[in-house]
Amino acid sequence: MSSLVFKNVRHRYDREYSVNIDRLEVAAGKLVCLLGPSGCGKSTTLRLAAGLESPLEGEIQIDGEVMANDSIFVGSEDRRVGLVFQDYALFPHLSVQDNVGFGLSHLSRADRRRQSLAMLETVGMQGSADKYPHMLSGGEQQRVALARALAPNPRVLLMDEPFSGLDVVLRNRVRDETLALLKKMGTTVLMVTHDPEEAMRMADEIVLMQGGRIIQQGSPGALYSQPVNAFAASFLGDVNRVPVTAVGECYETDLGPVPAAPDIDGPVTEILVRPEAIRFLPAVDAAAPTGEVALSRNLGAFCLVDILFKSGFRATARVATLHQPIVGETCSIALNLDGVFIFPSAANAQKANNPVSN
Ligand code: ADP
Ligand code: MG
Repeated sequence: MSSLVFKNVRHRYDREYSVNIDRLEVAAGKLVCLLGPSGCGKSTTLRLAAGLESPLEGEIQIDGEVMANDSIFVGSEDRRVGLVFQDYALFPHLSVQDNVGFGLSHLSRADRRRQSLAMLETVGMQGSADKYPHMLSGGEQQRVALARALAPNPRVLLMDEPFSGLDVVLRNRVRDETLALLKKMGTTVLMVTHDPEEAMRMADEIVLMQGGRIIQQGSPGALYSQPVNAFAASFLGDVNRVPVTAVGECYETDLGPVPAAPDIDGPVTEILVRPEAIRFLPAVDAAAPTGEVALSRNLGAFCLVDILFKSGFRATARVATLHQPIVGETCSIALNLDGVFIFPSAANAQKANNPVSN
């Protein structure tokens, strides 16, 4: 059963749609990430789910109940959703415990206290119950914000860029802890992020947005390995854009021939290749694509290696550090076709530039 459903939901602030979603579902107990570039409509989608914004068209349901449509609008306070924002939005004049108890006003004083403390214990902050937000670090404030959102036992937790205020080291830890807690509690979550790595790390399912629309929806692996267009391919990870020099049975490229895909609708002028799909052969092989190592950057676990081909085309490969090629060395490569994506060029350009139509 789906906890949160959007059907034909459209919303706009001015002429163009900020959100134009035919269907979005968040299944009970799942963590779904809305992912996309700045301005693509992620926060607006979240605000629509929260009841902070009323859709112009369409229907929003939570646990099968209509929250918004042409005739119904349930306000944020009655939706039983939890909210966590980037800046945590804790009340500065309330203690940590009172912040967490804020959404529990229906309970007696004693019950509120008990439940707030229990929730603080769950997030490992029971020792700070009497402190005030300004006395806490960013990571601690984040945990209090999470405790406050979860205390009233929301049907859906909505989080907008909840980790972006944390420094990199802390972010990874808080992210992992938060994910473990949400999974343990079985919370249904819709989370916004512009960071593909964060989405892949946390999400059961990623919803990729562009210009208010959903471009692709699926598991992190599916989005990375089976992108539906060039935008999806390049948003989820690095790609080399490799020019096609001739087309026959295969697309001929500096990285070797790639079997032509029969069902491509339109001319193909370039193929997309993930850096890890370029494999170095153990020895120079005249029959294989061959170039010169132009740059080699050691990033610890792997190296990024630029290969310069005779045509002047330069591709970046990602290889294990153990086999770091040396600059100036001649090398031959092979392609792993799992990391090669082919899209019709005209459609790519059109999709990438397509403004949201009304
Ligand atoms: P994201 O969270 O993906 O960065 P938003 O949902 O905040 O994107 O914004 C989507 C679009 O709606 C953007 O073009 C933005 O300028 C516009 N927008 C968002 N909020 C408002 C607002 N309150 N008034 C006018 N336009 C807005
Ligand atoms: Mg936003």
